[in-house]
Amino acid sequence: MSRLARRVLHSVCLLSLSAALPTETTAQTDPYLQLRLRMVEEQIERRGVRRHSVVEAMKQVPRHMFMPEAYREDAYADGPQPIGDGQTISQPYIVALMTELLELDGDEKVLEIGTGSGYQAAVLSLLARDVYTIEIRAKLAETARLTLEELGYDNIHYRVGDGYAGWVEEAPFDAIIVTAAPVEVPQTLVDQLKIGARMVVPVGRYFQDLQVITRTEDGVQTEFAGGVRFVPMITDGD
Ligand code: SAH
Repeated sequence: MSRLARRVLHSVCLLSLSAALPTETTAQTDPYLQLRLRMVEEQIERRGVRRHSVVEAMKQVPRHMFMPEAYREDAYADGPQPIGDGQTISQPYIVALMTELLELDGDEKVLEIGTGSGYQAAVLSLLARDVYTIEIRAKLAETARLTLEELGYDNIHYRVGDGYAGWVEEAPFDAIIVTAAPVEVPQTLVDQLKIGARMVVPVGRYFQDLQVITRTEDGVQTEFAGGVRFVPMITDGD
């Protein structure tokens, strides 16, 4: 092969690599890209998350942008991280697992309880038609909205309030994800699921069972997806 042909081939390869990723996540503009790709491979795929769309979304969303600057270095570490107000951004694997359990195909209307940093909402926004997210702490909600809007996620709808009430005006939902832990499954949220739709929710006081609840014609069907640890779901913000 001539040098020119080799060079052309090389640049085609580079082009197709960068074309597969949105501009904000190319190596030149995102110093964390390599760390993120490694996080997805080592923490997420290796632990068994297989759904292609979920893996791709986890590769794309710049997790570090959802954390206070002081903690960004740790954004791709294998654990939850502080986001202020005593709250945390969930461990990457748990975000991927809960998202996979929702079984989204791209056309859903999803409700998230506990916007927190906005990271989970960003992942969902790439996998569903519309994301409705509720946060009880006004300050966190505001920071998350600013981050998400700045990054261009434009199918997310925000509400400051108590997630126990759900979002009646927009119900029923195709999927609900609860990212703070209630002691019992909130019936109001079950009532806002379509028949056949599922809710992923960590249930318990200190340690929780991750439950996948499917609404049926005459009640619910519950599956257990392992032990997790989330901050408690509260009823009064600040
Ligand atoms: N999904 C978030 C992580 C959430 S941490 C992320 O990707 O970063 C849990 C969040 O739930 C916290 O921000 C907490 O303030 C919020 N929360 C707790 N109780 C709530 C309630 N009743 N309604 C809405 N949000 C609640």
